[in-house]
Amino acid sequence: MDVPVGGSISENIRFVLEQIRHATQQTGRPEGSVRLVAATKSVGLEQIREGIASGLTILGENRLQEALPKIEGLRGAPIQWHFIGHLQRRKARSVVGVFDLIHSVDSLELAEEIEKRAQEAGLRQALLLEVNLEGEATKTGFRPDELEGLLPRLGALPHVEVKGLMAIPPPTSDPEQSRPYFRRLRELAELLSRQSISSVSLKELSMGMSSDYSVAVEEGATMVRVGTAIFGARRG
Ligand SMILES: *Cc1c(COP(=O)(O)O)cnc(C)c1O
Repeated sequence: MDVPVGGSISENIRFVLEQIRHATQQTGRPEGSVRLVAATKSVGLEQIREGIASGLTILGENRLQEALPKIEGLRGAPIQWHFIGHLQRRKARSVVGVFDLIHSVDSLELAEEIEKRAQEAGLRQALLLEVNLEGEATKTGFRPDELEGLLPRLGALPHVEVKGLMAIPPPTSDPEQSRPYFRRLRELAELLSRQSISSVSLKELSMGMSSDYSVAVEEGATMVRVGTAIFGARRG
């Protein structure tokens, strides 16, 4: 695990940023090409404030009900909010315009609902397409083989801005097990980019969590979503 043992939040952040920088350099990618999204589910405001003071600039939340009071409590802080959990269609209205980026758009229907709500709100909502790389029945997400056909329809939504792909590989304690999934997500983005739909960009790759973010960076992640390695193990 890319996790220091028992560090303070600020020590953990320094460690994670250093690991990211190292993996970025190792693979000859430009410095600053990877952003750290701190996953803050079940983390309280005090700890989050400590994290912001120690350099966090992007916070990722899974659940709307948990996120909204935090967003209110941290209003004015120099941070971006990203939505990283499963989003139900009926909650799209509350998410649009509140989060700078939605990582987890997993169906055309959800994208169309976001389109509708973004139009009402008079804005363009940035999002990533979540890919179910293995076609696991228990997981949501687009199948890789359906995305090629759906991309023109996603690109035709004027109030939606597709910026990239996101994936969550099957859980494993060995980060090397995740490497082929990360590589496939990058290759899928490259393949789909050849369609060159002008309104669709697939430059962002959101992949890698506490156990495997260094490997994800080596394989091309532009955003890693890290919780435990920063805030410690979650209670409950
Ligand atoms: C919780 C969560 C993370 C972070 O997981 P850790 O293993 O705690 O780093 C990343 N992505 C999503 C979608 C999550 O729900």
